[in-house]
Amino acid sequence: MNEIPADALASISGDAYVREALALVPISILTLDEQGRILMANPETAVLFGYKCDALIGRPVELLVPDLQLDNLVLLRGGAFAPPGFHERTALHEFSARRNNGTEFQAEIGLKAFQFDENNVTLAFIIDRTERYELERHRRDLAHLTRVSTMGQLASSLAHELNQPLTAILSNVQAAQRFLAADPIDLAEVREILNDIVQDDYRASELIRRIRAVVKKGDLEVASLDLASIIRDVVLLVRSDAIVRGIKVTLDIEGDLPPVCGDKVQLQQVILNLLLNAFDAMNDVPPTDRVAAVTLARESDQMICIAIRDRGHGLTADKLDKIFKPFFTSKPQGLGLGLSISRTIIGMHRGRLWAENNIERGATFFVALPVGDAAGQAESR
Ligand code: ADP
Repeated sequence: MNEIPADALASISGDAYVREALALVPISILTLDEQGRILMANPETAVLFGYKCDALIGRPVELLVPDLQLDNLVLLRGGAFAPPGFHERTALHEFSARRNNGTEFQAEIGLKAFQFDENNVTLAFIIDRTERYELERHRRDLAHLTRVSTMGQLASSLAHELNQPLTAILSNVQAAQRFLAADPIDLAEVREILNDIVQDDYRASELIRRIRAVVKKGDLEVASLDLASIIRDVVLLVRSDAIVRGIKVTLDIEGDLPPVCGDKVQLQQVILNLLLNAFDAMNDVPPTDRVAAVTLARESDQMICIAIRDRGHGLTADKLDKIFKPFFTSKPQGLGLGLSISRTIIGMHRGRLWAENNIERGATFFVALPVGDAAGQAESR
């Protein structure tokens, strides 16, 4: 191998060389002084933010990243400026960055504080994450759309269920009016009627709460969740649909299960989808066989497993995997998105979703989720 002459090495190792190299890097790189003022910005920074490189020199970095004020910067870059040769992995932080024209975009920012020629310098690199966030937003919108469409299937049975307490409230109010017109007024009877009205009102608002919880559109909310109560809520939501279809839903929930960590709305969406699929699969079976059995139990020390078992037409061997692909549907009105979205959701929760045929008849869908609370997850990040 040919050796590189010492003078050639010197010429490629100086400040100019570093500048040349930084100019070629396809991500935004800046150096900052101790006060967070920009000492150097590479051309990619100028392109990304719509400034001329020179126009940035001496300006505070919060011009580009408004939340990177000095105190925040000091916090994130860490206290000490590392001596030369001290190489440690840099954590990335999510921020909103602002272009010269005022538009904002999502960025990941890494900060590295080090000593260079006895100066304390912070190296900052800014990665434009617009595409990733857009993709994430589209995925969330799609999940929301399928959730709303799934709820659409339940609309008429839910309207019917809501009508029951409303009708009961009306007839109770009419009865109370009659009692109040009587002389003497039977106060005990009126009190009882008012209690009934409160109960019916509670029933109606509980149903509305459950519907709103599922169709809600919002950001991911990670929390410690009690899977048992999530399942119960969804089962109550599909109760009237099950009655209309002549399906019995059974619940078998192991006691004292630890929480899982995740987004409640998304997990509800998965269970709702699996239950409605189980109902659809039993459309053509005799009424006595229409049973959807939901179980929740520990699978191991680390996993909790939900199983939704039906006695429907089951899955042919080729379908076992195909059904999880987007747009695969065997239903005339189907979208074919429910299972693929459900699998993505469960994957994001570091769990597993799969299907098996039952020995006697029908299929069982399993969802295995890792045990863990939100605080523990935050610590392990
Ligand atoms: P969709 O319900 O809109 O068809 P899904 O992704 O939820 O979309 O389901 C895809 C397909 O998987 C269904 O059309 C059906 O053929 C099959 N499938 C889902 N669940 C079951 C089940 N419990 N039993 C038999 N087949 C099922």
